[in-house]
Amino acid sequence: MSRGALLPRYGGPVPPPEGPDPTPAAHTTTTVERGAFALARCSCGWSGPARRSRERARVDARTHSAPEPLASGV
Ligand SMILES: [Zn+2]
Repeated sequence: MSRGALLPRYGGPVPPPEGPDPTPAAHTTTTVERGAFALARCSCGWSGPARRSRERARVDARTHSAPEPLASGV
C-alpha cells in the first residue's frame, strides 16, 4: 500500500484558487436569429448552419448536444 508522496509545506507561492472549469462539462446550446435565418449555437464554440426555420436550428442544437445513436433501426 502506498500513500503517495507527501506535499512539502513551505512558504512558497500558493496554487491558484479553484476557479470555473476551463473545459465545459456539457454542451449548452442556444438558438440565435440572424435576420430571416436561425442557427444553433453551443457553449463549446460550435455553431450550426443557418436555417430558414427556428425549428430546424433547434433540431441542429439537439443533435449536437445529444447525438442519437446510429443503431436505431434506420
Ligand atoms: Zn457543443
